[in-house]
Amino acid sequence: MSDSPKTTGFATTCIHAGQEPEPVTGAVAVPIFQTSTYVQEAFGKPRGGYEYARTKNPTRLALEKQLAALEGGATGHAFASGMAAETTLMLSFVKAGDHVLVSRNTYGGTYRFFSKVLAGFGVTFDWVDTTDVAAVRRAVTPATRMLFVETPTNPTMEISDLKALADAAREEGRRIGARIRVVVDNTFATPFFQRPLGLGCDAVVHSTTKYLNGHSDSVGGAVICADGRDGEKIGFTQNAAGGILSPFDSFLVSRGIKTLPVRMRAHDANGRAVAAWLARHPKILKVHYPGLPAHPGHAVASRQMTGFGGMIAFDLGTEDAARRLLDRVVICALGESLGGVESLISHPATMTHASVEPDERARRGITPGLVRVSVGIEDVEDILADLGRALEGV
Ligand SMILES: *Cc1c(COP(=O)(O)O)cnc(C)c1O
Repeated sequence: MSDSPKTTGFATTCIHAGQEPEPVTGAVAVPIFQTSTYVQEAFGKPRGGYEYARTKNPTRLALEKQLAALEGGATGHAFASGMAAETTLMLSFVKAGDHVLVSRNTYGGTYRFFSKVLAGFGVTFDWVDTTDVAAVRRAVTPATRMLFVETPTNPTMEISDLKALADAAREEGRRIGARIRVVVDNTFATPFFQRPLGLGCDAVVHSTTKYLNGHSDSVGGAVICADGRDGEKIGFTQNAAGGILSPFDSFLVSRGIKTLPVRMRAHDANGRAVAAWLARHPKILKVHYPGLPAHPGHAVASRQMTGFGGMIAFDLGTEDAARRLLDRVVICALGESLGGVESLISHPATMTHASVEPDERARRGITPGLVRVSVGIEDVEDILADLGRALEGV
């Protein structure tokens, strides 16, 4: 579905895929087609397949082509949120009686949706350490139909080896006589740093709310499939269930994606500098950043990613120390979410991961003193000075 030739570079694809000049006026920017329906040419003759805007909208379609090209997929579909994307994905690929393996440290909202909603519909889940391929293999049952992997994970930045997992899922699928789809939540890395479909995975999901849009002004999600038939299933469910991205948000995400490479390079440079600085700071007990050689996932991350990005978690020992830091930062804004141009800082145990049970939180390394920072693209000296000043009060 990608309109750009395979030979173009990634930055060119970000700017041009799906973004043809508008046919009537030649407008360079794809217009926001704020319409619910389309006038038909004649009885039984809709124009260009456009009948009703839940099914198809030109602004959303432009974004969907861009998303497919970015991930190297056959199809892309855009949704009203990352969770709406996951809802459509699961409704399309699993049914009652199926078993799904999930990275144990997955995004809190994914954990909540799978364990508190889908489990009630007869789908069973096991949370496994996907950094351990042998453990994943051992967890496969005759009913397993999906492996849902997040890498790097939120917030401790665990790294799973996608190629090894895709190979293992294929072999285990042959053994049990069924297809085990490998789905990757690529929200943290983005296709600029990591392309799961090229490593043999079947589908990618995104919260476009984060780096793809990148400006903290839209909530959205996406599913990109390697296989066109899988993509048709997603499209069918998207239209049937209706969790589509609006024309205005489609425009925002398309526009954000055009600067994804420059933003990600800047996030990566600032992320590396902040992680190195934190690792040297005497008040910090531990830094979770895959770019640091001491990180357990460093070797795999260096192999399967082309950069480490701007997500860092670090441990101050106690909730009180974390509170003192979070009450004193000025440039790093205290808030949930991540991936915007501005630095955001949060306390996972009481914010993003509050819905995870306390013992499960402890098992995932989400300690009371853990702080997560989404390093923005401000001047890095200002970010370091802000953290330095705030740490003086700890
Ligand atoms: C935010 C996020 C989601 C959910 O996306 P929404 O757009 O908030 O619905 C899923 N996965 C990851 C890794 C996220 O960070």
